[in-house]
Amino acid sequence: MFRLIQLQAQQGVPRIGVDPDGYGSERAALARYRETPTMFSGVGRFDAAGRLAEIIMDSACGSASGCSRPAAVVHADTFQRLCDTCAFGLSVLTLPELALRLGVAVRPAPVLAPSGRHAAPEESSPVGNRIAREFASHVDDPVWRMELCAELARTPSAINGLMIGVGALSHRAVLDHYPSLCALGTQLPSVVHADLVRATARPLSPAGVTALRLGL
Ligand SMILES: [Zn+2]
Repeated sequence: MFRLIQLQAQQGVPRIGVDPDGYGSERAALARYRETPTMFSGVGRFDAAGRLAEIIMDSACGSASGCSRPAAVVHADTFQRLCDTCAFGLSVLTLPELALRLGVAVRPAPVLAPSGRHAAPEESSPVGNRIAREFASHVDDPVWRMELCAELARTPSAINGLMIGVGALSHRAVLDHYPSLCALGTQLPSVVHADLVRATARPLSPAGVTALRLGL
């Protein structure tokens, strides 16, 4: 038996709300879930005794900005699903960590094929767009790097442009520009620097890749 569930935090304690309607298959429950994705967190599988046996989490980022990237983690306090980009700098739990907190297995739902919702533009910040576009051709320019760091201090969302720009470099380009990348790594605003250093714990995430390529 499958039911739609809601994962909320009450005074920091996770609370699992269960919708009364039951479904015979995970597929049917997920289809129902996807009609009103903002109301629920995912689907729960209940065993024969009616106990919650497993949580199947939605695969899309649940950030308020309408982000379309796949969710990778949940916010440590609100249990909001977040992608690696939206989670940058926040305190988060991986799905195995969340499972430990809840005492129930948690796994991601199968990813939906691209649709209207997923066709949203990847990056909506003009500053971030410009940084991403200029990164490869300007990173060797010390004045441009200084301006970039000032921009990162002023506009926190500009970090997305940095992650896109760094992530788009080929391995060859990383080697060619490595001294400049490391110089940038030492010049970053301290908050960004600290967040990126933390991100090296997840080296395959965009932030983790950025941190490692900047020599952090
Ligand atoms: Zn996101």
